[in-house]
Amino acid sequence: MHKKSLSFIILVMLVCLSFFAGEVAAKESIKKEPFGMVNGQPVGLYTLTNENGLVAKITNYGGTVTSFIVPDRNGKLGDVVLGYDNVNSYVKDNHYFGAIIGRYANRIAKGKFILDGKENNLAINNGENALHGGKKGYDKVIWNAKEIRTNEGVGLELTYLSPDGEEGYPGNLSVRVDYVLTNRNELKIDYFAVTDKKTVINLTHHSYFNLAGGGTILEHELMLNADKFTPADKGSIPTGELRSVKGTPFDFTKPTAIGSRINQNEEQLGLGSGYDHNWVLNKSRSGVLTLAATLYDPKSGRLMKVFTTEPGIQFYAGNFLDGIMAGKGGQVYPYRSGLCLETQHYPDSPNKPNFPSVALNPKEGYRQTTVYKFSTK
Ligand code: BGC
Repeated sequence: MHKKSLSFIILVMLVCLSFFAGEVAAKESIKKEPFGMVNGQPVGLYTLTNENGLVAKITNYGGTVTSFIVPDRNGKLGDVVLGYDNVNSYVKDNHYFGAIIGRYANRIAKGKFILDGKENNLAINNGENALHGGKKGYDKVIWNAKEIRTNEGVGLELTYLSPDGEEGYPGNLSVRVDYVLTNRNELKIDYFAVTDKKTVINLTHHSYFNLAGGGTILEHELMLNADKFTPADKGSIPTGELRSVKGTPFDFTKPTAIGSRINQNEEQLGLGSGYDHNWVLNKSRSGVLTLAATLYDPKSGRLMKVFTTEPGIQFYAGNFLDGIMAGKGGQVYPYRSGLCLETQHYPDSPNKPNFPSVALNPKEGYRQTTVYKFSTK
């Protein structure tokens, strides 16, 4: 064939291909709708859609992800997070479904810590300890919301001013959390904060994932990029030891079905009522974004990878879900029907000098990034 006509045909094919690609690619979008009232204030529900048709729904009440809709290996869409249909259920909920957790995610022993010689007393809400920011943590406040469009995808910028003394924490803390649904099929969460007085901070995200979209998470295969974990007492306060996972049911260095060892007669599993522990992530340098976990559901083929800048990850296997509250579409969430992978600093760090520091000084900025990336296998 003549060289010129061959290049013309190739050109026509390329134009057709790019036209076709333009036709099939969904357009990314953000849609806002009302989600009800909390304390006389309206809250919104934002639907983020990316170019590949993945959907994340987020409300500015608690910065809560209410739905995350991703395809299985056959392209069938399914919701992979637990949640509710209405804001009143989130107000009543005490499982922290899908929320932003702060000012201090996880537990602080007896709600006390000393900072620069001064004792701070926090709200106690979990036995004798403080959990997830206290009686009214960041999961129970209304955040200011701004829609954002970045070169990676569409998102929501949430801001909240946590006043000095709130739940016992010192310092006015100005917090910003950006959720971006990227066109690489990731939910990317960037956290920022500044304080006007020395304080402690540990922010995380509390989605309960179920990649099968129903049933329990016991057949999900989990990999945690961690050679050590922090054993804890019966109140889930770390003892301070960084223990090797080798030869224990806490070894997830290779993908392993969660249900294969969860009921073993082992001291730490007994104390935590199953997996509800912090793993010490393998990192060559602190603060860099590295792979923390992979979660795979063999039935649907859905695979989620978690990357974080944080030093630890709390893997909580939904041991306190009791199947009594009505979730989305009236479904009840039974025992171990969702799991949390909470990227964070270790629990009770303010009282553990050997753990990485969680202190934040004025003029310093707090930053953390976590990415939940979805694909199929
Ligand atoms: C904790 C669990 C707690 C749960 C509350 C998790 O982050 O590790 O112990 O029961 O949050 O929903």
